[in-house]
Amino acid sequence: MNVPEVLKEIRDTWIHRVANSMARGAGVRENFQGQLERFYSLLVQAIETGDPAWVDPILYDWSASPTQSDLREGEKNISAVLNRMLMITYELVREDLTEQEAMDTLGSILPVFTYALDKAARYEMETRVAYIANELTGVQSKLERLDRSKSSFISVAAHELKTPLTLIEGYTAMMNEATKNNSSAQMDSLIEGINNGIRRLRTIVDDMIDVSLIDNNLMSLNFQPLWLFKLFNLVRNELIVSVVSRKQTLELRPFPGNDQMLFGDSERLYQAFRNLLSNAIKYTPDGGSIILDGRTLPGFIEVTIADTGIGISPEDQETIFEKFSQLGNASLHSSGKTKFKGGGPGLGLPIARGIIEAHGGTIWVESDGHDEKRCPGSTFHVLLPIRTEPPDPKFAKLFGVETKSDH
Ligand code: ADP
Repeated sequence: MNVPEVLKEIRDTWIHRVANSMARGAGVRENFQGQLERFYSLLVQAIETGDPAWVDPILYDWSASPTQSDLREGEKNISAVLNRMLMITYELVREDLTEQEAMDTLGSILPVFTYALDKAARYEMETRVAYIANELTGVQSKLERLDRSKSSFISVAAHELKTPLTLIEGYTAMMNEATKNNSSAQMDSLIEGINNGIRRLRTIVDDMIDVSLIDNNLMSLNFQPLWLFKLFNLVRNELIVSVVSRKQTLELRPFPGNDQMLFGDSERLYQAFRNLLSNAIKYTPDGGSIILDGRTLPGFIEVTIADTGIGISPEDQETIFEKFSQLGNASLHSSGKTKFKGGGPGLGLPIARGIIEAHGGTIWVESDGHDEKRCPGSTFHVLLPIRTEPPDPKFAKLFGVETKSDH
């Protein structure tokens, strides 16, 4: 018999054996048998025409319909099926054919199987890559949804907290007024305690509102002329009490460009640099030093704030600029804004970044890692564009910067 005759001869036994060896249950076997019949006739076509690509369509169909668990476990089912088919073919030709017929038949079938195995591996890999890409898109959109709901939660919570806070502030002021004439030292210190709590709560609520403004690209900047050295001095004046109480030194080095007039939102920039400097105080042990320095680069001013504090690990250097990055350390949260390692809600850096970026600048940190004994320190860099006039509102919008004059 020649090869086509052999193929015709062994067809039914081949299909029957392959179906029996691989599919359990009559229903499954019947369905599988249909698939095998299709495969076999394509195999015959491939051999007769000498073009193994005839088997492509069925391999493609098989690779496109794996079960979810196949995909998750990364099983290569088609390759396994093809290998099993090949084993059964060996058995069959050895049992029923002469040596010559067996050699000829295998000689024709093997190249098609080699081709099919290669193709199947490729198709299965493509399906798997598509599956993983799809899973990733799913995870990404879940994360985006989560981030959106986090952002709207912050915004709602902040606005809801604002009203009762204003009430408490009002009543405390009235209480203060009412007890003014017969106030006692004890009453004064109680009222002072309430006022401290209110101030802290207001800072947190304001920070939450700022974060939601930044998240939603709604932070509006009020561009005015400003001088960085003046701004830094104001921040120092606010923080000097903490610096002294922590026995630290805070040096503001004069640098070329710090006396240049720039356009920017001085209140917002004050807030950003205050956050950076109070962090430097917070994360530097007593007796440490903080140096604010800078330089002029073409079109930019670079400000650096270097401390001799506990430093930041490479993994954290990116995430600390994301909101609530430090929530896991809630046990370390403390009421002191500049107490050593007194972590807060983790909004200071996201706000600083939002403000700097709204000005068209960048912020990043460099540190040799986190080590509370060795204290490698951290250096925060802020790059601010030198703007010698307020941005054109139309132009500013392109960069997501709104100017107050728009409103
Ligand atoms: P918070 O101080 O409220 O936790 P921030 O957003 O200001 O939030 O800072 C986020 C985190 O970044 C801090 O909790 C701290 O772990 C780290 N960090 C910020 N500044 C410094 C610094 N100068 N040195 C070491 N770690 C810092």
